[in-house]
Amino acid sequence: MSDKSFDLVVIGAGPGGYVAAIRAAQLGLSVACIERENLGGICLNWGCIPTKALLRSAEVFHQMERAKDYGLSAEKIGFDLDAIVKRSRGVAKQMNAGIKGLFKKNKVTSIMGEAKLAGSGKVIVKTDAGEETLVGKNIIVATGARARELPGLEADGDLVWAYRQALVPTRMPKKLLVIGSGAIGIEFASFYNTLGADTTVVEVMDRVLPVEDKDISTFAKKQFVKQGMKILEKTTVKKLDRSAGKVVAHLEDAKGTTTQEFDTVISAVGIVGNVEGLGLEELGVKVDRTHIVTDEYCRTGVEGVFAIGDVAGAPWLAHKASHEGVMVAELVAGLKAHPIKPNSIAGCTYCHPQVASVGLTEAKAKEAGYKVKVGKFPFIGNGKAVAMGEAEGLVKTVFDEATGELLGAHMVGAEVTEMIQGYVIGRQLETTEEDLMQTVFPHPTMSEMMHESVLDAYGRAIHI
Ligand SMILES: Cc1cc2nc3c(=O)[nH]c(=O)nc-3n(C[C@H](O)[C@H](O)[C@H](O)COP(=O)(O)OP(=O)(O)OC[C@H]3O[C@@H](n4cnc5c(N)ncnc54)[C@H](O)[C@@H]3O)c2cc1C
Repeated sequence: MSDKSFDLVVIGAGPGGYVAAIRAAQLGLSVACIERENLGGICLNWGCIPTKALLRSAEVFHQMERAKDYGLSAEKIGFDLDAIVKRSRGVAKQMNAGIKGLFKKNKVTSIMGEAKLAGSGKVIVKTDAGEETLVGKNIIVATGARARELPGLEADGDLVWAYRQALVPTRMPKKLLVIGSGAIGIEFASFYNTLGADTTVVEVMDRVLPVEDKDISTFAKKQFVKQGMKILEKTTVKKLDRSAGKVVAHLEDAKGTTTQEFDTVISAVGIVGNVEGLGLEELGVKVDRTHIVTDEYCRTGVEGVFAIGDVAGAPWLAHKASHEGVMVAELVAGLKAHPIKPNSIAGCTYCHPQVASVGLTEAKAKEAGYKVKVGKFPFIGNGKAVAMGEAEGLVKTVFDEATGELLGAHMVGAEVTEMIQGYVIGRQLETTEEDLMQTVFPHPTMSEMMHESVLDAYGRAIHI
């Protein structure tokens, strides 16, 4: 093989692409990974990681404000927004440098440039040094996604922000409107609200965090409102009138249209796949709206061309992208591949309180025809949660009455994004209520609530 020929060429070095490249290299394949902006993609640079760094600052701030509850004193509590942002950017930079090191260690050829498919097995890369053509026996398109822009609600970087601007604010919003209450919108709402912005969240659906189980979004909403957020459900932002230092939002609900003034708007109305300019159509790769169409093995239908991660559609989660990356790398290396099971991928939202879930909601399970058994356990019944000063939360489990299969688990409250993994393993192992009930959970831990929720589904909960 020449220097420019590879067993695998990966376009995009996000959590889909870089993981695929490393796994393929581990399996002995020659691999090139092309990235036009930042190694680590959105996740490490503009998504998962820097948002969690910001949210951690907000969480510590919140705990400092509650110092008295713990018998502590803290005076003149304040924050320096620039320093918070600097820390978040530093964390992102550290992660980005880590990928460079991992590529080196695994002998992945890393090329910084813009890639385009150029006919069967060929990729043209535009770099600072010019253009080069790579030949790949297999190609993975892992080009990710970007913020969706709705007409009239476009980010301008000044008054109206999308997630990139919201991650590096140049000022603290005083009166903030967040459009969209999915994971990205509600995380930013939580961050700015905790730091003192007068925050309003508008959601077009009938409840916040609309993909979550109804009990969980209802519980979360109560907490957000307690923290001072205003939540407008079944409401649409029709128009934003922008003028010096202010935005007038035209809000429409069943009663009609009203206007409200804000100094900052964050638009979080979804994402669109990066499918443009890649030469997909010319090659015969099918695109449905803004996502590449694939089968469960991430095959596009064009021999040797795969698509993974955000560009290949929902769920738009880093761990889904990485899992697909590993699967495709193993497939092209001739190993047995394990397609993803969509109902076993957890979703985590790091708002305050946190939300985490896996599998079917109660409503979706019923819609799918299951007769269900449902368990619920409140944080207030758990010693560790009370000791931690985190007594507000709920764990809900949904079982198939006929077989005892754990169909779904849904949590809201402190640390649930860490705990959900217990149920994910349960689902992966196709566990039943019997296995979960027989499992001994350590005491005192918040994970005991996961046990109690299962017990409750079968009328056996101890602490409620
Ligand atoms: C604010 C925010 C918070 C988030 N928080 C979470 C979270 O907590 N948990 C979670 O699981 N997910 C989270 N996500 C989603 C997560 O970031 C994505 O699901 C994940 O990054 C998708 O990985 P990917 O590899 O498919 O794409 P990306 O991470 O988008 O990477 C694609 C890469 O391809 C590059 N690229 C595109 N076109 C080309 C080209 N033609 N040539 C070369 N390179 C190209 C891009 O520059 C990019 O670096 C968040 C997203 C946002 C925006």
